[in-house]
Amino acid sequence: MSLITESQLFNDILPAAVIIAVEGRFEEANQAALNLLEAQDISELKGRELSDFVHPLDQPRSQARVRREGEDFVNPAAKFRIRTVKGAYRMVLLSSRAFSHEGRDALMVTGLDMTDHEALDAQMRESEHNFRRLFTNMQDVYYRTDVRGMLVQVSPSVEAMLGYSAEELKGEDVRRFYTDDTDSEAYLQRILQHGRVTDFPARMRSKFGRVVDISLNSQAILDDEGKFAGIEGIFRDVSQRLEMEQELKRLATTDALTNIENRRAFLEHADHVFRSAQRYGTVVSMLMLDLDLFKTVNDEHGHIVGDQVLVRFAEQVKRELREIDLFGRLGGEEFCVLLQHTNAEQAAIVAERIRKRIAQLRFFDDDGANFSVTVSIGISANQAEDRQLERLMERADRALYLAKHEGRDQTRSA
Ligand code: GH3
Ligand code: MG
Ligand code: MG
Repeated sequence: MSLITESQLFNDILPAAVIIAVEGRFEEANQAALNLLEAQDISELKGRELSDFVHPLDQPRSQARVRREGEDFVNPAAKFRIRTVKGAYRMVLLSSRAFSHEGRDALMVTGLDMTDHEALDAQMRESEHNFRRLFTNMQDVYYRTDVRGMLVQVSPSVEAMLGYSAEELKGEDVRRFYTDDTDSEAYLQRILQHGRVTDFPARMRSKFGRVVDISLNSQAILDDEGKFAGIEGIFRDVSQRLEMEQELKRLATTDALTNIENRRAFLEHADHVFRSAQRYGTVVSMLMLDLDLFKTVNDEHGHIVGDQVLVRFAEQVKRELREIDLFGRLGGEEFCVLLQHTNAEQAAIVAERIRKRIAQLRFFDDDGANFSVTVSIGISANQAEDRQLERLMERADRALYLAKHEGRDQTRSA
C-alpha cells in the first residue's frame, strides 16, 4: 500500500501545474497550478473562463487548439503566454487533453513554467543578433580555424581586404595566405605557448597578389578537456597605417628643402656610428661644409634662387659620397658629412673633390644671369680619446673657420 494518497500526489506533490476545466471554465487546479497562476486557492479560479488567462495575442492559437480537441486527442506541448490572477505574464508550456465528465466537455491541461528559460532564450537570441550584426558590418576580419588550421568561419569583410569571398575561404588552410611561412609559424607557436597573441604583425597576400600588412589579435580555442581545438581571432589591415607611420618618420627625419637628413636625424645617426667606431677602434672622419658668402647669393639673386642653389648643392655633394656615408643639413647653408672607415687623409681627398665639383657648377637666375658658388670645408677625424661626437664637430668647426679665414673656397684639416 502506498503511503501517499492520489489526492496528495495530484494536489501537493506533482510539480507540473494541472487544471481541469469543464465547458471552458475552471473546475479544479492542483497546488502547482495555483502557484503558477498566483492564486491563493481554487475559489479565485473556479467558474472563470480559461481564455481569461491567456494573453490576447495567444488567444487565436489557443482557441484553435480547443476546437481541435475531441475525445482521445492530445494537443502537443506548445508555449503560451498566460496571465496570472495578479496580472503578471508567464510563458508556459501547455499540453491538454479533452475528455467527457458527466456528459459535459471537459479538458485537462498541464503546464510547465518556462518564463526563466524564455528570458534566457531571448537573451541568447539578442546576443546572437548582436554578434551577427557585428560580424557582417565590421571592417576587421573575424576568423576561426579548426585544430589543423583550416578555416571554419570568416567574416564577409575579408573580401574587401583580401579579395576572396568568405565562402571561398571555408576549408582553406590559413597558412596559404601568409606571404612568409615564418610569420605563420611564429604566430602559431606564440598562441600555443601563451594562449593568445595581441597586435601580432604579419603580411598576407590578396587574391590579386597585393601584399597586405595586417595586425592579428587571436586566441586559442580549447575543447571541453582543455585541449587545443583551433584559433579564433581578428585581423586588421594596417597597410595604410604603416605607410603613414613611415611617411611621418620620413618627414620627421628629412630636411624638407634638400631631402637629406635633418639636423636631429643626422646627429643621432652620426652619434651611433661614432660610438661604434670608438668601441671597435675604427676610423671615421667628418666634413663640416658652409657655403661661401651665401648672403650675397640671396641678396643678388633672391631667396628662391638661393634655395635652388642649396638643393643642387646637396645633390652634388651626395654624388661624391658612398651609401654608407652620412650627410645632413645642420641648418641654413651648413652641412655635415660623416665618412665611415675613412681617415683624415682620405677625407681630405673627398673634401677636395666636393669643393671642386661645387666650384664648377653653373647656376642661372630668373634674369638669365649665371653665377657660381663656392664652399669651405673643415675636416676632422676621430681620436682614441674622443668621448663624444661633439669633439669631432668642434675640430671640424675650427678647421672650417680657418678655411674661411684663409680666403674661402678651400678645405682645411684640423
Ligand atoms: P660665409 O662665407 O662667412 O659663410 O658667409 P655667409 O654669407 O654664408 O654667412 P653666413 O653663413 O653667416 O650666412 C648664411 C646665410 O645663408 C644667411 C641666410 O641669408 C642664408 N640662408 C640660410 N638659410 C637659408 C635658406 O634656407 N635659404 C636661403 N635661400 N638662404 C638661406
Ligand atoms: Mg656661409
Ligand atoms: Mg653659415
